[in-house]
This record gives sequence, C-alpha cells and structure tokens, in this order.
Amino acid sequence: MIEIDGNRLNGRLETFAAIGATQKGGVNRQALTEGDRRARRLLAELAWTRGFSVFQDPMANLFIRRAGRDESLLPLVIGSHLDSQPAGGRFDGALGTLSAFEVLESLEDAGVETERPIVVVAWTNEEGCRFAPGCMGSMAFSAGEIPAEWQRKLATDGVSFAAELTATIESLPRAKMIPLGFPIHAYLEVHIEQGPSLEASNIPIGVVGGIQGTRWLDVTVSGQTAHAGTTGLGYRRDPLRALTSALSNLYERIMPADPDARFTIGRISVEPGSVNAIPEEARCTVDIRHPDPSRLDELEQLVSSTIAKEAEGQRCSVVLSRSFDMPPCTFSADLQNAIERAAADKGFKSARTLSGAFHDALFVNRVAPASMIFVPCRNGLSHNEAEFVEPGHAVAGCEVLAQAVVVIAGKTDR
Ligand SMILES: [Zn+2]
Repeated sequence: MIEIDGNRLNGRLETFAAIGATQKGGVNRQALTEGDRRARRLLAELAWTRGFSVFQDPMANLFIRRAGRDESLLPLVIGSHLDSQPAGGRFDGALGTLSAFEVLESLEDAGVETERPIVVVAWTNEEGCRFAPGCMGSMAFSAGEIPAEWQRKLATDGVSFAAELTATIESLPRAKMIPLGFPIHAYLEVHIEQGPSLEASNIPIGVVGGIQGTRWLDVTVSGQTAHAGTTGLGYRRDPLRALTSALSNLYERIMPADPDARFTIGRISVEPGSVNAIPEEARCTVDIRHPDPSRLDELEQLVSSTIAKEAEGQRCSVVLSRSFDMPPCTFSADLQNAIERAAADKGFKSARTLSGAFHDALFVNRVAPASMIFVPCRNGLSHNEAEFVEPGHAVAGCEVLAQAVVVIAGKTDR
C-alpha cells in the first residue's frame, strides 16, 4: 500500500478552485478559455517540478507520464477533466484529475516504482457547454481523429473552436506534442457521483458498472386548427389533447414501474399558439434513459405506440424521429473487481452503481477497459456552484484509486 497526502489533495482542490472562482464559491472555467489554460499550465508546472514528462495532443488533451520499470508495457491511464460549467462546482472533473496527480506524487514520495508507466490525463471539453458536444477530447482520442465539422464550430460567446484550441495548445509550448490516440492498458476515473445515492446510504465509494444509454426523440402530432368557441367536441382534431393524454399515460407507466428507467419531456410547443384556437400541431422532445439496450428499445416502442393511439383517438397524425442515440456502456468487470478490492483493502464500504451522466470514461471504454470510482456529493448536487464533497470523501476516493493503481500497474519497491 502507498499513503496519499490528503491535506495536499484538499489544498490542491482549493488552489484550482481559485482559477475561475465565482462569487458564490463555484467555478467558471469553461473549456479552452483563459481560465482553462491557467489550470492546465498550473498542473503542467506541478508535473515538471516533480520531474514527470508532460505531453499534449492535437485536441489539447494534457498527459503527465511517470515511467514504469518495463517501458514496453502499455500505460495505465488515470484522470478526468479540468473544464467546468459556467456556474459549475469545484469538484466535477477537478477531483478526478487532481486525485490522479496525487497518486503519481505519492508513488514518487514513497519511492515506489510500478511495472507499467502511469499517465495522468486532463481531457479537453468534457462539459460541452461552450462548444458541443461534451467529451470532445476523449471522443477524438478514442476515434483517433478530430471530426472536420468541429473546426467550424463557434462558441456560445462567438469565438471559433479552431482558434481557441490552437491558443490553448500554444499556451503550453514546453509540453511535447504527440499524435492523437495511443494504446493504453486500462483507464480509471474518480468522479463525484452527481446524484444522491451514495450520500443517502452513507457509502463513501461507488464502483461504477457502466453508463446508462440515452435516446432522444422529436415528436410532432398534427391535427387541425379551428375556432375555440364554435368547434364542438365531435368536430375537434386536437393534437395537444392527444399529446398530453399520451404523456400523462407514459409518466404513469414508465418510471413508477422501472426504477432504472428515466423519462423526461424537456421541451413542448404548439402551433400556431393562439389563445382562442385549437392548435394545428403539438410538438415535444422525449429523453429516455436505461442501462439495458433492449429496455431502451421497448421504451421507445411504448412511447411511439402510446402517442399513436391517442393521436388516432383525436384523428391526428404523428411523426416521431430519433435525434440522438447513445447506447449504454458496460465497464470492465475486472476493473470493477479491482476497485471493489481496493476499497475493501483500504477499509471503505463500497457499492456497485451506474452512472446517469456521460463521462470521458464512456469514450475511453471503446478502446480499452475502463471503470470509474464515485464519491458522494452533498445532496447529490452538481453543475451548481454549491457542489460540495466532504474532504474525507475526496481522500477516500483518492486512496482507493491509489490502491487500485498499485495493483493494476504492478508495484516493486526500489
Ligand atoms: Zn465531470
């Protein structure tokens, strides 16, 4: 076992939280901004001080490498991201990146060599709020290429993605450039849970089995616009009546019957939107999520047939199309077992869990075994300036990571 320095970790979290600090105690350090560059520079300088090598790739993913005893072995990669939401918290991303760096420093302090090289990573633009999509860095890394259309993207503040990416890479001239993507042995990421389960059950470590799948649908129900006062019940072809009946039915049938299912209507609109006319069209978006791909198909089928039935009752027509489809991801069973054992070795209670949100680990999992270690956050709150992780829980996540790293990367005392 190696000992991590919990005070150093919590001190670092404070130091990085000061970069882009907001009035309400959160951070605004959106991807590829000057704040993001300052955080990357600080991490690179800390790495150089310890004698580690620092690299970046054409997506500005930042890598810090500690050599292994056998340099022919593939590296174990650990990390997360440093960018934040505009009104983000101090821990989302920073906790995983700084925990990974703490592990590297603790190995150095203890004079422990590992068989494999270990690489700490800070992925670019996990949040996706300034430039969509999220997880750009890990997505491009695992695909081995940057999609051409990304170069033409503009930020929400009007700045070009290509220019900001170049400026970010150039802000670290000492970091050696490497090509996009390299073979890796395995990937581990510490992250705040961003949900209430661990805190509610008083368990400090979540062993993440995978990330649920997400499917988005666009629904348009078309009827006939007509006078609100003169059109009797038998003459109405009301698309909103059909849609609201269908949705109310789906709210009753999906989530209450299946605790793993998520069903959300986030946007709804009617045309022409007149106070005294039956609408011509009613539209909504549907967001369904589930860890089981066959259940996702069943849920989509249920949404589609329920809306079709209600529309038929109103003599309306329906057009339903998928606008997004992210299959569920299952993390490596070996890595989950390794995390569970590491937690037990360190004397922490752990529980198997699934992630409701996307993470960089989802994309890395496409090219190498990956898994995640979750720690509780207060009231399940994240993407919020009030996001808070107990210092003891931050240390617990880092200790479990360190223990798993020592086992997976193989330890030899110097
Ligand atoms: Zn995150």
